[in-house]
This record gives sequence, C-alpha cells and structure tokens, in this order.
Amino acid sequence: MGIDIKTVGIVGAGQMGSGIAHVCAMAGLDVRLNDREGSRIESGLATIDGNLARQVAKGTITDDQRRGAVGRIVQARSYDDLAPCDLVIEAATEDEATKRKIFSTLCGSLKPDAIIATNTSSISITRLAASTDRPERFIGIHFMNPVPIMQLVELIRGIATEDPTYESAKAFIGKLGKTSTMSEDFPAFIVNRILLPMINEAIYTLYEGVGSVESIDTAMKLGANHPMGPLQLADFIGLDTCLSVMQVLYEGLADSKYRPCPLLVKYVEAGWLGRKTKRGFYDYRGEVPVPTR
Ligand code: NAD
Repeated sequence: MGIDIKTVGIVGAGQMGSGIAHVCAMAGLDVRLNDREGSRIESGLATIDGNLARQVAKGTITDDQRRGAVGRIVQARSYDDLAPCDLVIEAATEDEATKRKIFSTLCGSLKPDAIIATNTSSISITRLAASTDRPERFIGIHFMNPVPIMQLVELIRGIATEDPTYESAKAFIGKLGKTSTMSEDFPAFIVNRILLPMINEAIYTLYEGVGSVESIDTAMKLGANHPMGPLQLADFIGLDTCLSVMQVLYEGLADSKYRPCPLLVKYVEAGWLGRKTKRGFYDYRGEVPVPTR
C-alpha cells in the first residue's frame, strides 16, 4: 500500500519547480516551495500567479480556483519547513553534486515515511537514491516543460525503489490529472532517449547541407505531422540542454550513434542557446523568427 500524498515539498523554484507547484496547488494539494535563493521563491510565486491569471482570462479556471491555488502554496525558507511533507520533489539545477548535497542534507528534516523524488532529465535515479537514507522510498518523477500544459509524466524506478513508492507516485500523478508512463533507469529514460537523437539527426541533416533550417522544419511538420519542426523544438528546449542530454546518452550508452553533432556544439560554444538567448537555429530578435542558416 502506498501513502496518500496531501502535502508536497518542492526544492528548486525555477521553471520546473514553479510549474510543479502550480499543478499540485490546482489539484488541491498543500505545497511548500523551497529554493537556495529566497528571491527565486518569490519570482516563482509571481510566475505561478501570472500563469494562473492567464488561465482565468482564457476561461479555463475561475478566479476562486486561482485564489485557492495561490493560498495553498507557502514558502519554505529551510528544509525544516518541509517536515510535514508526504512527498518532496527535487527540481534544482541539473548538476549531480548539487542534487546529492540537497538529498543528504534534506533527509534529516523529513518524516521517516516521506517519499523523495527527483525531476532530473538524465541523472541516474539509482545513484541519486544512494545519497539519501531511504533508497526504497526514492523515485524519479520527470515532468515535461511547460508543466501546466504537458500531459505526460515519466516515472523512473531506481534499483531499490519499492512497489508502494511507485504506487504512491502513480496515484499522485493521477490526482494531478496527468498520465504517467514507467521507465527503467537508463540514460535519458524514454522521451529524451527517442526525441533528442531525432533532434541531433536534424542538426546533422543541416550540418551536411541536406536541407536548410526551413526545409528541415517544414519537412517534419508537414511530412511527419509534428506540431513543431525539430530545429524549432531544439531552440525551445535550449541547445545547451539538448547537448547535455546527448552527452549523457553518448557516455552512458557508449555508442557512437549518440555522438552530438559538431554544429550543435558550435552553437552552444557561441552562446546561441535558442529562444532563451534570442538566437539559435532561428534569430528571435525581430518580429518573426528568421533562420540563422
Ligand atoms: P532552473 O534553472 O529554472 O531552476 C533551478 C532552480 O534550482 C533555481 O531556482 C536554483 O536557484 C535552484 N537551486 C539550485 N541549487 C539549489 C539548492 N541547493 N537548493 C535549492 N534550490 C537550488 O532549472 P529548471 O529548468 O527548472 O530545471 C530543474 C530540473 O528539472 C533539472 O533537473 C532539469 O534537468 C529538470 N527538467 C528540466 C526540463 C526543462 O525543459 N527545463 C524538463 C524536465 C526536467
């Protein structure tokens, strides 16, 4: 039997942590939001409020629901403030040392039966579990970006994750109105294992001169019915993130088919990281995005 999750702690109030807080609060759960920097908690709360207000304006939720959700999220300035949580989800920077430090410090503040989860996109769940005092109550809960919009959540079991932990996490995702899939603990799990090599191949197609940015994106939008072209999607994800997932696949699976395209490396070295830096495979500085090749 799993545990009924009513109070959720979130460590890391960036784009993913605030999105997770948003959907938990909308599902009626109590949320405690933590970050290393207090200002990030405040900006996370402001983002959530802005996104909820947009949903009210669109008529997808009522103003009462917005106020209810905002009222259910409280700031957790220390790990001790996470003591009442049934589940704590770590959504801090994608860096193994940072995450290990969080887990080893956090455990002492939590109830013994609390579940700990990580939102990592690529780091081994089994390795992260080993830095806690409860590997059997540790699991990967991988939300997609943007969290309030994307339907899927990947659940990843580490080698020691016990059935009740998995069942509790699955029920929790159901409560959020989302769909979960189960993945074994291998590099990049399922979605990124399949998606990122496709994006990397699109970049090779550009690199080898098979097609222009526009031809490649149009080909995949109209020829494969993808809502976005692969290069447009790469810019949306962030080219640094794309490169780091490819490196995890390349190193973790030791197979040359995952080698990152040199053109992707070049864009990242130039600091052209996609939408967030206003330039990637497209230039976003003008009114409409213009291909950079
Ligand atoms: P982000 O940079 O927006 O947010 C990370 C936050 O973690 C920052 O606010 C930072 O201050 C905080 N932080 C860093 N160290 C901390 C610590 N020791 N204690 C508490 N807070 C700390 O990053 P993000 O895009 O929200 O990514 C967070 C996690 O989610 C990563 O593991 C990432 O791989 C994963 N993820 C990201 C995406 C995506 O598309 N961005 C999708 C799925 C999963």
